[in-house]
Amino acid sequence: MGYALRMATMNGLTFHDLARHLASPGHLSLPVSSINAIAFMFGCPREPLRNAFVVRHFRAGNQAAYFLGHLFLRTYLLRQARPQLCPVCVGRHGRARAAWSISLLTACVFHGVRLIDRCVCSRPILWRRPSIDLCECGLRLTDEHQGARPADTRELSVSGQIEYLLGSGDVDVSAPPIHAFPEGFDNVTIDTFVRLIWIFGIVDDLQIDEHPKSTNRRLQTVDAGVVACLAYDRLSAAISSSYPARRMRLVGKALCNLYDDVSTPADATLISSLASRLQELSASPSIPRLIRKNRQLSLFEDDHDPIP
Ligand SMILES: [Zn+2]
Ligand SMILES: [Zn+2]
Repeated sequence: MGYALRMATMNGLTFHDLARHLASPGHLSLPVSSINAIAFMFGCPREPLRNAFVVRHFRAGNQAAYFLGHLFLRTYLLRQARPQLCPVCVGRHGRARAAWSISLLTACVFHGVRLIDRCVCSRPILWRRPSIDLCECGLRLTDEHQGARPADTRELSVSGQIEYLLGSGDVDVSAPPIHAFPEGFDNVTIDTFVRLIWIFGIVDDLQIDEHPKSTNRRLQTVDAGVVACLAYDRLSAAISSSYPARRMRLVGKALCNLYDDVSTPADATLISSLASRLQELSASPSIPRLIRKNRQLSLFEDDHDPIP
């Protein structure tokens, strides 16, 4: 979408013009069906463009999506029509990064600042704006007018791990050092990782996940940042066996659902290792099933020091 917006601006068009031409005047983002037309209009190869679109499809009766070469089984964890951005990146490079479409990526690991999805004028940031660095109100969407709030270190760890799992190739060597994510999460798929962050981040409200029609699952950046920080704390606690027992039942059920969807041995090992960590604290009826399946494997056998 960022590419289309930049190309439209360079050609004297607005995103609204593009949307009206390729979809309908009401569209806040461009549909997959417009890939060929965009490639033709702006002279770019079709495949990289397709890679940067959220391409939805049905899989076992549920909506799934391919994005940046990865499969996502929870499309509400991708943001399309309501973008977020790093004001420093936009100020320096004048472009949007595709990774910002992952809703639980809430911090820029290159500049150590929080992403924003709202201008200081309080308007939500849309693709339908005058240009990549301008809000409808006339203020620039850069640190000059938006400021740059430092991100929480836990939020940075989650965002850094998402960037790593996405395989973002453009890591800036001058990026500030960030706290590494706890060990054991490096070989999982991005889908399993973001779903684990979601499960542990909203554990007190897990009933939300039981209602497929709930709209509360599409979080604003500020709320997604809270989810990321809580998930970091709780995953760290689960690994160090200090996880509160009262949350066990909900998490156990969610982990079982996640386990049923995984497609790689690394994902299965991570989830069953987390499940056996939780099992050490409380006997949950749903968790032993996972442990039996992976009795020989555990990533977290040794006692780790609690991570502050
Ligand atoms: Zn940035
Ligand atoms: Zn504004």
